[in-house]
Amino acid sequence: MKIMSVNSGSSSIKFKLFEMPSEKVISSGQVEKIGFDDATFTLNFNSNNNQKVLPIKDHVFGVKLIIEGLIEHQVLKSMDEIDGVGHRIVHGGEIFKKHELATEKVVEQIIELSDMAPLHNMAHAISIKAFKEVMPNVPHVAVFDTTFHQTMSEDAYMYATPYEWYEKYGIRKYGFHGTSHKYVSEVTNQLLKTSETKIIVCHIGNGASITAVKDGKCVETSMGFTPLEGIPMGTRTGSIDPAILSYMEKKLNISSEKMYDILNTKSGYLGVSGITSDARDLEKSIRAGNKRSILAFDLQAKRIADYIGSYFVYMGGLDAITFTAGIGENSPKLRKLVCDRLTALGVEVDEKLNQENALLISTPNSKVKVFTIKTNEEVLIARETVAFVK
Ligand code: ADP
Repeated sequence: MKIMSVNSGSSSIKFKLFEMPSEKVISSGQVEKIGFDDATFTLNFNSNNNQKVLPIKDHVFGVKLIIEGLIEHQVLKSMDEIDGVGHRIVHGGEIFKKHELATEKVVEQIIELSDMAPLHNMAHAISIKAFKEVMPNVPHVAVFDTTFHQTMSEDAYMYATPYEWYEKYGIRKYGFHGTSHKYVSEVTNQLLKTSETKIIVCHIGNGASITAVKDGKCVETSMGFTPLEGIPMGTRTGSIDPAILSYMEKKLNISSEKMYDILNTKSGYLGVSGITSDARDLEKSIRAGNKRSILAFDLQAKRIADYIGSYFVYMGGLDAITFTAGIGENSPKLRKLVCDRLTALGVEVDEKLNQENALLISTPNSKVKVFTIKTNEEVLIARETVAFVK
C-alpha cells in the first residue's frame, strides 16, 4: 500500500511517499514559493534529485506537478496507486480528539480554527482542498498536531484565567509538535521494552517543546494556547511575565500586534544573542567566547531542566528523557547543558556517547536513561493514515 504524507504551508507543499507497512520511503519532494514565477519543484527518488524552477500559481497546480512528476519518473504508473494521503494539521482545537477523514465538514472546521493558528490552518485547508481536487478518489486524512495532547487532565491544560474565557473562547493549553512527541515516545517505549513508562520528550528545533508521557499518553506539555509558551526557542521568548507586554508596548509605543511579532520572531536565541536564531551559528559564537550567545543557550537549558524537574514531580518518577529534532538530535553541547542541571534526579551522561550523538547517552549508573532519537513526523502521519485506509 502506498501512502503520501503531506505538510503544507501557505507557499509550500512538502511530501513523502511511503510503501506501507514496510515504511520504506519511495519518493519525497517539495514545491516551494507557490504564487511566484520562480517557484521550485523538487522530486527525490532512487537517489535522484530532480529540480525545476517554474511559475506555480497555486496549490492545485503544485499538487498536479507532484503527481505528474511521480508518473513521469516512473515512481508510479498512475495516481491510482496512492491508497491514501495524510495531511499534517497544526491546530485541532478541542474539536479533534482524534485524527479524522478530511470530509468537507472537517475542512470547514479546520478553517474555523484558523484564528487560533493563523499562519497554519488556513494553508492546510487550502492544501487539502487542492489534493482532493486532484485526487478525489482516495481517502484524505487530517492528522492533528494537537491530538496527542488531548489526554492532558484539566489541571494541566487549564489556565487560571476567568473560566468564561475557556467556555466562550477556548482559552486553554493545546500543545504542539504532537506527531513528533508521539513518534519519539513510542520509539522510547520500544527501547525500554514496555509501554508502562514515565518519559519526557525534549523536541528542540527552531520551535521547541517538552512533553511528559506516562504509559504512552501525554500528561503535560510546555507549549500552550499557541506555540509561543514554554521554553525559549530560536526566535520565540517562551513563557515570560505577561505584565511585560503592556509595560513594553507603552515604553516602545508599539501595537499589541507588533509586540506579538517581537515575542515570536525577534526573541529567543536571536533576541538574547543579538546574532542568530540558528543553533549551529550560536555554537560558533559561543566557541568564540561571546557572552550573550553563552547566555542564550544557558537560559534555554535552565528552562528545559526546570520543565523536566516539574514533570518528574508530576509523573511521580522518570524512566527516560529523550532528545529529538534538529538541536536535540545534533547538539551535544545543549544536551550537556541540560543534563548537568539534572544531577538531583540521578541523571548521568556519558560524555563520549553524548559527543557521538549515540542512541543511548546515559551511563549504566544513571537513574534515568537518556536517549537521542531522530524524529519522524511523516512516518507517523503515514501510520495514522493507514488506519483509515484499512
Ligand atoms: P524546525 O523543524 O523547528 O524548523 P529543526 O528541528 O529542523 O527545526 O531544527 C533546526 C535547528 O537545529 C537549527 O537551529 C539548527 O542550527 C539546529 N541544528 C541542526 N544541526 C545541528 C548540529 N549539528 N548542531 C547543532 N545544531 C544543529
